[in-house]
Amino acid sequence: MNTRAQIKRLIQPTVQSMSAYQVPSSAGLIKLDAMENPYHWPEDLRQAWLAELAAAAINRYPDADAQALKQQLGAVFAVPEGAQLLLGNGSDEIIQLLVLSMARPGLVVMTPEPSFAMYKMATQIVAAQFVGVPLRADDFSFDLEATLAAITQHQPSIIFLAWPNNPTGNLFDTAAISEVIEQAPGIVVLDEAYQAFAKRSFMPLLKKYENLMVMRTLSKLGLAGLRLGFLAGHPAWVSEFEKLRMPYNIGVLTQTSVAFILKHIEVLNEQAARLCADRDRMFEDLAALPGVRVWPSAANFLLLRMENRGADEVYEKLKRQGILVKNLHAAHAMLNNCLRITIGKQEENKALLAALKNCI
Ligand code: PMP
Repeated sequence: MNTRAQIKRLIQPTVQSMSAYQVPSSAGLIKLDAMENPYHWPEDLRQAWLAELAAAAINRYPDADAQALKQQLGAVFAVPEGAQLLLGNGSDEIIQLLVLSMARPGLVVMTPEPSFAMYKMATQIVAAQFVGVPLRADDFSFDLEATLAAITQHQPSIIFLAWPNNPTGNLFDTAAISEVIEQAPGIVVLDEAYQAFAKRSFMPLLKKYENLMVMRTLSKLGLAGLRLGFLAGHPAWVSEFEKLRMPYNIGVLTQTSVAFILKHIEVLNEQAARLCADRDRMFEDLAALPGVRVWPSAANFLLLRMENRGADEVYEKLKRQGILVKNLHAAHAMLNNCLRITIGKQEENKALLAALKNCI
């Protein structure tokens, strides 16, 4: 049997042309690459959590529709009455479910560019058409005119808007987003992964727009390892997406842990507030470095451009000094020589600043 020939014949051509999402090893490094919260919980909370985990029924399948957890999420995150929730193994899984639910020849998925890589990946997997509408050069602001023109031309079934945007960190203009929701021929997914830092949300507008879906994740709030994201939207839409969800996608340990920590949400919110203050301090410190351009951010990361050095070189030099950041140089033409740094603990941020000074 000729395996290579079989793969060439059987695997979808677009999948063959894709590369798997690469996660570099972070062993022994200060990890400032993936927008994780660097803090754990106070010791007494950890002990109480462990006691709950010890009693968890891991011999049983998890609660398949996690009604109690959804109610708790709805209350904590102010989901309006009447909206329905869909839970995903991270919001990555929800992105994939949404695209899969509409997969057919001619499907168009649209996002501003540059933005979160998973929207494009999920689209490529189903061999649908991905349309990226460039953000404005220089400040990465949302180009409403270009977006409306692209909507008219391509008739996208799904528009993903990361708000704040990853990797640029900015919030697009709210009036422009409302206009997009009103003009879209399909659904608009407001991906509010960084809401804990931006403190602004389209959630209340679920009452106004039936084609609006608001997506959140608990990852950036400090639970990246548990994998839980959710989508809130009109029940008629969400019931369709629900059909694609594998019944036990949220494990017992995740359900138990999230139910526990949501009762202490103030701990996570305080950590987020501390990260916001440290982000603002880092912004000032980075802006003062010669040869570094930094953009304002409403999230827990900052986008930097190396103006006199190659980002590849700086990335490697930082790594040699024990710090892992995200190199975006090859990700998009508008991200030439750009790095993205996650805000960590104060000592980690200081270490990054010192290491960066050594590079420039
Ligand atoms: N949306 C955005 C905008 C993101 O930046 C990320 C993570 N980088 C995600 C969604 C996915 O988060 P998760 O799968 O951990 O919920």
